[in-house]
Amino acid sequence: MEKICPRCGISSEKRRFAGNFCSSCAPLKLEVPSSIELLRCTRCERLQIEKGWKHEGAVDLEGMVQKLCKGEIRNASFDPQSGELSLIVEQAGAFVEVKRKVAVNYAKTICIDCSRTASGYFEAIIQVRGKKRERVEKKAGEIANAVLKKSFIPKIEELKEGIDIYCGSRNEAIGALNALRLGFLRTEKLAGERDGKRLYRTTLAIRV
Ligand SMILES: [Zn+2]
Ligand SMILES: [Zn+2]
Repeated sequence: MEKICPRCGISSEKRRFAGNFCSSCAPLKLEVPSSIELLRCTRCERLQIEKGWKHEGAVDLEGMVQKLCKGEIRNASFDPQSGELSLIVEQAGAFVEVKRKVAVNYAKTICIDCSRTASGYFEAIIQVRGKKRERVEKKAGEIANAVLKKSFIPKIEELKEGIDIYCGSRNEAIGALNALRLGFLRTEKLAGERDGKRLYRTTLAIRV
């Protein structure tokens, strides 16, 4: 039976229908967030994403917004600068273009790494030693950069015998040395007790 769209008057012989309306006039089944809220560390500027912290460039805001949209979405693009969200939604076999605004709001906080850095917390010390000071400094710089990609460094000490890099995470310190293919000697020292658990400080010694 032929239907006439009550909004635009088109016949169902000319356009597909979704219920009583034609596919262009039928209300879209679409859920779009009006805003997303993010936590930003005021010190390192990183954003909290799920349980970790990432630099803004590494955060997929577009993907996050897309995940929050619900409907027969065939294509979605989001520009975080303007907050403009463009969607192609399928309805009764027709494609409808939809534009919406999604505000990106930032709340200020201090991330766990920055609060630990401020308190001087560390789990491991990478000791860089070698005969040539220049080489020691160059390697120490490479190691520090590798560690900083994943973790934090509360302190770097320049000593007569070499350079000590204090690392917030034991695992990331070891990971950085492995990534740079640097062999190391590992020693554990008891550093005290907390809540009945023994605390160890790890020293990772390398010669360059
Ligand atoms: Zn219509
Ligand atoms: Zn931070």
